[in-house]
Amino acid sequence: MNVQQIVELLERRGDSQYGGESVSQLEHALQCAKLAEDENASTELISAALLHDLGHMLHDLPEDAPDHGVDDRHEITAARHLAALFPPAVTEPIRMHVDAKRYLCSVDRDYLNALSSPSIQSLELQGGPFDAEEATSFEANPYAEDAVRLRRWDDLAKVAGLETPPLKHYEPHLRAAAESADL
Ligand code: FE
Repeated sequence: MNVQQIVELLERRGDSQYGGESVSQLEHALQCAKLAEDENASTELISAALLHDLGHMLHDLPEDAPDHGVDDRHEITAARHLAALFPPAVTEPIRMHVDAKRYLCSVDRDYLNALSSPSIQSLELQGGPFDAEEATSFEANPYAEDAVRLRRWDDLAKVAGLETPPLKHYEPHLRAAAESADL
């Protein structure tokens, strides 16, 4: 996959609903990237924010798979596909964004209490909150902080009807992040 194909995939599959929330996959991706950009995140982390749920578009499981007890492991699928093009600064926060939720649930009770109901449902499938040992090993990963930042944007990027820059606006970030890869 190259940047052009990734953009086309987002355009083609982006109108599907974002897991039980009131935004589409593409709206969710754009809102997440905008939150990253608003916080002056790196080009790599803005790219990660835009692409973190690409894994949902790389399989053909139904949108309501979690209702049937199926965890699509979308974070692994996306990280694996994107590793051919992007550096770990993009793919690691993506791979870890579900673990970051399990981590935050174990260290931040307010975070756990504020999760949306689809997110609580998927948390169960994803293994529930980390125990103390799992949380410590998560923190040891050099990309843990980026993964937690991405996770917090992810949780906020669900506002119906919010205006964001179009996908085109983020293409230069994707190209720059791809060029920064030492492949
Ligand atoms: Fe997401």
